[in-house]
Amino acid sequence: MFEILTDSFKSAINKIRFADDEKSLKKALDTLKKSLLKADVHYKVLKDLLSVVEIETKRDGIGQVNFLKSLKKNITDILVVSGKQGFVFAPKGVTKVLMAGLQGSGKTTTTVKLANYLKLRQKKVLVAACDLQRLAAVEQLKQLCVQSDIDLYFDEQEKNPATIAKQALKKATDGLYDVLLIDTAGRLAIDTELMEELFSVRKVIEPDEVFYVADSMSGQDAVRSAASFHEKIGISGVILSKFDGDSKGGVALGLAKQVGVPLRFIGVGEKVADLEIFIPERIVNRLMGEGDLEGLAEKTSAIIDEKQAKAINKKIKKGEFNFNDFLEQMEQMKKLGSMKSILGMIPGLSSVANQLKDVDLENSVEMKRIKAMIGSMTKKERLEPALLNNTRKRRIATGAGLSDVQVNRFLKQFKNASKMAKQFSGKKGMQDLQNMLSQTNRGGIPR
Ligand code: GDP
Ligand code: MG
Repeated sequence: MFEILTDSFKSAINKIRFADDEKSLKKALDTLKKSLLKADVHYKVLKDLLSVVEIETKRDGIGQVNFLKSLKKNITDILVVSGKQGFVFAPKGVTKVLMAGLQGSGKTTTTVKLANYLKLRQKKVLVAACDLQRLAAVEQLKQLCVQSDIDLYFDEQEKNPATIAKQALKKATDGLYDVLLIDTAGRLAIDTELMEELFSVRKVIEPDEVFYVADSMSGQDAVRSAASFHEKIGISGVILSKFDGDSKGGVALGLAKQVGVPLRFIGVGEKVADLEIFIPERIVNRLMGEGDLEGLAEKTSAIIDEKQAKAINKKIKKGEFNFNDFLEQMEQMKKLGSMKSILGMIPGLSSVANQLKDVDLENSVEMKRIKAMIGSMTKKERLEPALLNNTRKRRIATGAGLSDVQVNRFLKQFKNASKMAKQFSGKKGMQDLQNMLSQTNRGGIPR
């Protein structure tokens, strides 16, 4: 997701690897300039950044370490905008959030992602369907909410978004919800009709937050439209969607510096779990290819239920891990989001992540086969993998429409997975994993 920026930092830093004269510093700054422009960083932001980095590096002594230090510090400074971080709850009652943005920016998807994010943190969340502009908008939101088991307020007879918002707020208050998220209509461009609609919803809701969802693929346009929304209705945070794939990353710097509203979350994929809290220091570490273990830990701890994890651990240690547990673990994996975004958070693996085409675990042929096999087992077999003799295996193969070889291969993989799980179960296991990873790449930048 940050490939362009990360690569550009690396190639700039490489320019002064062994040298320490002004000529190599100039080369490094030139490389940086070219690639930052390519990454969609605004010219003015870029100019300021380069001149400070130049001054500081010269002051501290030209060399890779000082160059890197100055670059990191100044990028972090740009991204740190005074204001809130992540999701902030109202001091009492329902926290009301108005989601705004242009059409196609990712408002609806992001609303559901945010609802899911909060739900995983044990909050009661209601979503309100206030986009009445597009015919299919309510239906889209309905489907997304059903998939993730999120409460939705909608009224297909009502034509006024402000009325729906008001009714949703009543439901949220009466139902003792923690959070109300209001999905609104977008337009292709900012127009008065859209602003009036948002004004009317804002008036009845009096939101605690107005989140502007900006499409990072739209580059500098995202910065301009965010600034314009901010000027007209006032926004308290930006969520940068589509930060995966081909988005160039530079837009994050522009939003922070030019709009002056903090980035709160980033969307890093199409799945509901692909939302991450935006913390400047962590993002900068990732930009530099140094990973973000803290972020990873935060993500996993919210998703993996401690009690459940302990129960599974116990089973694994006793060798009682069965096919039902296996399916459950796969479900948990799904909640973590895209493989690519996870790998990028692990130190040393960002370049691997960048090369990886995102694997769709859930819809892979492999996963479908596994589900078919487990589906062809009896209840008893699922609980007791040891029961599977050749006769049973053949029956399962027939039931799943697979060959004996395929069934055997899966069973072998299952055995290996249980072994691996045993190795990494418990706190010590996680430490081992982290040690292993930090040893693969201590400095972040490959030598
Ligand atoms: P809205 O018109 O602002 O409500 O936009 P939608 O939520 O309907 O999203 C428009 C398209 O962008 C959909 O196809 C989404 O799947 C896609 N989308 C939204 N957020 C992300 C993201 O973070 N990454 C990727 N790759 N796609 C996204
Ligand atoms: Mg929408």
